[in-house]
Amino acid sequence: MCGIVAYLGNKQAYPILINGLRRLEYRGYDSAGVALLAGDGLTIHKCQGKVSDLEAHIGDRSTSATLGIGHTRWATHGPPNDVNAHPHQSTSGDLALIHNGIIENYAPIKEELVHRGHVFHSDTDTEVLVHLIDDIQRSEGVDLGEAVRLALASVVGAYAIVVLDRKAPDVMVAARKSSPLVIGIGEGEFFCASDATPIVEHTKNVVYLEDGEIAIIDRHKGLKIRNIKNQE
Ligand code: GLU
Repeated sequence: MCGIVAYLGNKQAYPILINGLRRLEYRGYDSAGVALLAGDGLTIHKCQGKVSDLEAHIGDRSTSATLGIGHTRWATHGPPNDVNAHPHQSTSGDLALIHNGIIENYAPIKEELVHRGHVFHSDTDTEVLVHLIDDIQRSEGVDLGEAVRLALASVVGAYAIVVLDRKAPDVMVAARKSSPLVIGIGEGEFFCASDATPIVEHTKNVVYLEDGEIAIIDRHKGLKIRNIKNQE
């Protein structure tokens, strides 16, 4: 069901994301989007429709970035439209997140987060994740990887996610439970995708993330995989 592609390396991320999303089109989807992180600038483009509609929507705006995430959505919560398309962004604008799957206990989490001042824009279950991670970063003073781990430990459901943080411009964090996610390791570059088809043209070196695992991918420190439950 639908797709995820992410890239961190020395090449331009945008063409890799678009080509990757095209390779995942066979899975079916109703909207598409990308987030690009360059320096401390985080840009999100998303719309209902096909990957070609997303490209037309972006037109000749600058897409320069060597870190980015791309998503095709198959709506489960909220109609297919531009606002509900992923990536979703935290109220601060620091975080961008893509998700395949369903967060079953999103309603009580959303209620609590709204109470704590987070501003929701979409009808999706997904949006609780980005605000929850942001909330944990602030209240616990932890880095992105640990905030994602703590957030996921408190949600019920199925997910493959990738998260970017404007405050950590050389890092992407990915995790999965009951939705597939593959990591590709190239020469000084990393890929994430829902299956290996967007990755194999770049590298044959792939890791299939296990259920309940989180991957912290750092441009300088490389790849670390941890267990969501116990940090091992
Ligand atoms: N449940 C999420 C939504 O409705 C993600 C759907 C998907 O897997 O693409 O936006």
